[in-house]
Amino acid sequence: MSAAGHSSIRRIAVLGATGSIGASALDVIARHPDRFRASVLAAGSKVEALLELCRKHRPDHAVIADPAGHVALRDGLRAAGLPTEAHAGMEALDALVAGDACDSVVAAIVGAAGLPSTLASARAGKRLLLANKESLVLAGELLMRAATSAGAEIVPIDSEHNAVFQCLRSCRAQGDVRRVVLTASGGPFRGRRRAELGEVTPAQAVAHPKWSMGPKISVDSATLMNKGLEVIEAHHLFGLPDEQLGVLVHPQSLVHALVEFSDGSTLAQLGLPDMRTALAVGLGWPERIESGVAGLDLLAHGKLEFEAPDLDAFPCLRLARQSLVAGGTAPAVLNAANEVAVSAFLQGAIGFLAIPALVEDTLAALPATPADSLEALLAADAQARAFASQRIAQFAP
Ligand code: NAD
Ligand code: MG
Repeated sequence: MSAAGHSSIRRIAVLGATGSIGASALDVIARHPDRFRASVLAAGSKVEALLELCRKHRPDHAVIADPAGHVALRDGLRAAGLPTEAHAGMEALDALVAGDACDSVVAAIVGAAGLPSTLASARAGKRLLLANKESLVLAGELLMRAATSAGAEIVPIDSEHNAVFQCLRSCRAQGDVRRVVLTASGGPFRGRRRAELGEVTPAQAVAHPKWSMGPKISVDSATLMNKGLEVIEAHHLFGLPDEQLGVLVHPQSLVHALVEFSDGSTLAQLGLPDMRTALAVGLGWPERIESGVAGLDLLAHGKLEFEAPDLDAFPCLRLARQSLVAGGTAPAVLNAANEVAVSAFLQGAIGFLAIPALVEDTLAALPATPADSLEALLAADAQARAFASQRIAQFAP
């Protein structure tokens, strides 16, 4: 890198490009054409949306995970006169992130479907901007080990963990940390009692008060499973046990996390609820770059409030902590059952309270076993999906 500027442009692969995080990542990348270029764009099944992004960002490669979209993608790229190469399938994606097509990877596929490409990026030693929290929940030890041995730098793109990442840069050793506190908005149903949650609809559940996000994480925020997944995520990212990981409900969503150190200092990171800040940290670190997000006007926002989470109304947070403590396959089972339950809830097949019930039943039916291989974890994931899917009928409203 020359003193005058950047001798080379960093090539970024954006996985989950058509999603909410994908859009935020592409927004920040497009603000810095002298530093970054989106060289790989990947999506699940929305060919038209992916083509639209290709016309705008002109990547070298476009990948559609669903093989049925291959021809439409290839023909659409050709019709648009783009040099972008069309690929289909998850294996193609894994090969692209591991190869020479990119320097950094924004892992923003939703769910366990993101694990193979996340792992491939880590094994290839890429800088990994990790939004796909489910891959850490499912295979956190393996993923962290792969990143360490390949020298892959992980920058968490979850607002809370990105906040912790920033705060931790003020100490040298992990032993200096007394505890980490993740904040939670409380979701759209904060303040409701359990008895008031039976009839809530998918539309109400995805209407998040502070963050605009994809449907799955929005439901996870409404059940507080999102915070449970994040406690497990923090455990892997920062090497802290359950007891050192606190959760505080903070409805304003301006304080993203706090880190308390052994000397009694607590550092917090604050900012508007806009994921472009976390993505700018991930793209630019250790430099600070423009993200398009305005600064914080605390006078305009008024009060910052904090309260304890209600584990009776939102038992998913408790279930997630239990699975973290149980270890082995338990977090994989929790995550898989939750993905099945959330998808069923979004389709109207089960009610809101059936989400924790289904997760709890699945955890009880498939007790934790040790899991030190990817095969064992994927087997637990598959077993939990099968069990939860077959059980759904019993929860039909
Ligand atoms: P989203 O639903 O908006 O987007 C998901 C993306 O994943 C889409 O581009 C979709 O095409 C792609 N996808 C889905 N299934 C796929 C598959 N099988 N193969 C390949 N691609 C597939 O979701 P989102 O809100 O952007 O969230 C993405 C991830 O980031 C999730 O893990 C979520 O928990 C995490 N995250 C999101 C936010 C947020 O603000 N949205 C914040 C923190 C963490
Ligand atoms: Mg978060």
